[in-house]
Amino acid sequence: MKKLGLLGHPVSHSMSPKLFIDKFSKAGRLDLEYLTYDLPEISDFNTFTANNPDIVALNVTIPHKESIIPYLSEIDEEAQAIGAVNTLFKANGKWMGYNTDGWGFRRSIQPFLRGRHESALIFGTGGAAKAVAYSLKTLGIACYFVSRTPEKRRKMSNVIGFNELTPEAIKHHLLLINCTPLGMEPDTDGCVQIPWKGVGKDHLIVDLVYNPDVTTFMTRALEKGAEAMNGCDMLRLQAEKSWDIWLKNGL
Ligand code: NAP
Repeated sequence: MKKLGLLGHPVSHSMSPKLFIDKFSKAGRLDLEYLTYDLPEISDFNTFTANNPDIVALNVTIPHKESIIPYLSEIDEEAQAIGAVNTLFKANGKWMGYNTDGWGFRRSIQPFLRGRHESALIFGTGGAAKAVAYSLKTLGIACYFVSRTPEKRRKMSNVIGFNELTPEAIKHHLLLINCTPLGMEPDTDGCVQIPWKGVGKDHLIVDLVYNPDVTTFMTRALEKGAEAMNGCDMLRLQAEKSWDIWLKNGL
């Protein structure tokens, strides 16, 4: 049996196991199993893989998408450009890293983009936020990150603090994207603190959180007449791309 799985902390909320178990079953791959692996400290990655030699491929989630990079032998061009990895494959005992979040996000948002969506505010500065920014830049959309602690993000460009957001700034950026874990099960009341007065019907808001289906961030935006989507399509698409990468590598 070849083992695959999701590595992160926490991992219990994830839909990935169901997605992949369905995929394996449809492909008739009875030789594959997909589990969740809760790893609080990424410094334990080498010990974890040594203790689990049957694991051949992994997805990586919060909070390890960036901190895992030093533990990998190689990462592909898109993961390098993004600075985060969410898909791993073990070849000849070496771990290779890829990023499929950027591709999944791009494919999921494209049908909803209109000419007026020229610039975006991205809430959060983690691995998913970087993948989103990379994708939007490839679509010619300008991006600004919004962080709780912009002073700690000096290596990144275009970062402002939540306390600097004004209703005018919100009105100016018609694409608002939540790339924080706020609102995710079980803390479903969580939501980014923004001047909601600036949100209107021309906004497209995207929540990368997909559990619950309709998050507090989406509800508040819908109440303002904005269009809102969750991270379900992105999740499905990034998983498909991971599957393709694993198959191309000989899974
Ligand atoms: P991450 O690397 O841990 O980054 C999360 C970022 O959110 C942090 O850098 C932080 O930015 C901000 N943040 C964290 N806790 C916060 C809080 N309590 N209040 C406000 N901001 C907070 O995680 P990630 O991998 O980027 O994932 C972020 C979210 O996207 C998760 O919920 C994940 O499940 C979801 N996601 C969904 C998909 C999908 O396919 N739908 C794909 C990837 C990720 P600052 O410290 O700068 O404020």
